[in-house]
Amino acid sequence: MVKTLFKNENGSIHYGRNAPEGFIAATKEDVATAIANLGVMKLWRCTVCNDMHIGMEPPEECPTCGSIDAYVEINEQELKMVIGL
Ligand SMILES: [Zn+2]
Repeated sequence: MVKTLFKNENGSIHYGRNAPEGFIAATKEDVATAIANLGVMKLWRCTVCNDMHIGMEPPEECPTCGSIDAYVEINEQELKMVIGL
């Protein structure tokens, strides 16, 4: 299944087959806006399924693979490469 982009009202972004609770469809422009306005948000990647997340904290349970505490912090270059920005 194809991974797509999601966002929530706090400006967090998720890239995966499934979205965390409360997220709606997003665009690459939303991702660019989030990266330009990170503030206290960080970039994260699921080490099991490679879902991407932008937010203060990663999802405790990955919405795509269901793994617990599987996210690690990544840099902007890695996130952009995977999402295709
Ligand atoms: Zn995952």
